[in-house]
Amino acid sequence: MDPHCPGEPGAHPVSPLEQALHAARALVIADLVAREVAEADVVSLVEESVTHRRWWVEQWPEGAGFLAGLIAQDVQDALLERYGRWPLCSVCGSGDPHALDVEPELGPDPHWVCHKAGVRVAAVGGLGRATGGAVSS
Ligand SMILES: [Zn+2]
Repeated sequence: MDPHCPGEPGAHPVSPLEQALHAARALVIADLVAREVAEADVVSLVEESVTHRRWWVEQWPEGAGFLAGLIAQDVQDALLERYGRWPLCSVCGSGDPHALDVEPELGPDPHWVCHKAGVRVAAVGGLGRATGGAVSS
């Protein structure tokens, strides 16, 4: 039951769009793992988004570079309904816990930003590296 590897010989070749979907999926999963929420049912939320965005990018192939940011936002919305805010800001040490936002919402090179502190925290897919270099102040 692991649909992420379509590489059967004789199956349809992997298109650039499919590659972009896989890359985007991997980035979002990396961020989920970084924040320790990559449980099976959470990963299925990613799969739902990938399925939806596959349709979307087939209609608009120019949007292939925007997939990581879109899937991150889809998963963020789905998590908010079921679990709560994700990913929590790791930059602000005090105040109410708050989630990071994806910027741009629809554009290339998406990043997680904290609007409270006004900083870019990490690229989508790079949250693990961001928490590794802990901000100590
Ligand atoms: Zn913050």
